[in-house]
Amino acid sequence: MAQTAVVEGVGYWSGLDVRVEFRPASADTGVVFVRSDLTEPVHIPARAAQRIESPLRTTLSRGGASVEMVEHVLAALAGLQIDNCQVWVDRPEMPGLDGSSGPFVEALLEAGTVIQAAPRSRMIVRKTTRLGDEGCWIEASPTTSSGLSVCFHIDYGRDNAIGRQTYQLDVTPQSFQTELAPCRTFLLKCEADWLVSQGKGLRATHKDLLVFDESGPIDNALRFPDECVRHKILDLVGDLALVGCDVIGTITAHCSGHRLNAQLAAALLAENEVLDAMKRSA
Ligand SMILES: [Zn+2]
Repeated sequence: MAQTAVVEGVGYWSGLDVRVEFRPASADTGVVFVRSDLTEPVHIPARAAQRIESPLRTTLSRGGASVEMVEHVLAALAGLQIDNCQVWVDRPEMPGLDGSSGPFVEALLEAGTVIQAAPRSRMIVRKTTRLGDEGCWIEASPTTSSGLSVCFHIDYGRDNAIGRQTYQLDVTPQSFQTELAPCRTFLLKCEADWLVSQGKGLRATHKDLLVFDESGPIDNALRFPDECVRHKILDLVGDLALVGCDVIGTITAHCSGHRLNAQLAAALLAENEVLDAMKRSA
């Protein structure tokens, strides 16, 4: 990155005001979250080993410090192929914003990127790996192309407005920006009501993410007819970033979520070697 980028907003879960600074980092730093509000700043690398279990979001933890809802930030960085960045945050949660990666992408593009001299690493998927069960599964397989392609299928049944959606995309910085980054988090109204009853998301309105009832998103309009499945691919790009480098392969997913996505990232790390490639690092 050429300079520091700042994004401010409200945390969905805590309702707290959050300030995020994306700071340039030297080659081979990777993406590292830094909790700036603690007496001693704690550095939490965005790697599969730091992930801890939490419902409906991706959380990283190290030495008792954690940062929640990192997936849309990780997707923005991975989608733009920004490899080295320190993400300073003054709360234990990233801001929810509009529920997409769009505002992070805008701030990062405005700050600009620089090409670093170090080789850029990648992982080539050599064999098929499948995780999950019949209802929800995810599979990584070798590809003949030079990048990551994803095919995602979701099935919410017939009695709500989400229904069945399928979307396929070759993920590049350009396709990520136009086809995935603007796509927002979604919930069913019953899920949103339950979270509010638990004291969560009290400052989030129906304008801040997509809340679906039987007829469609409440007080909101879709940016794409299949915005939900596109957001699931955005989440997957963010979770797969926990591998720590580009993944060259085909991912096929049926109703996968953060847990399965992260399990795949860990399995890929266990089964494939990371190769250095003479390519740009931003
Ligand atoms: Zn998401």
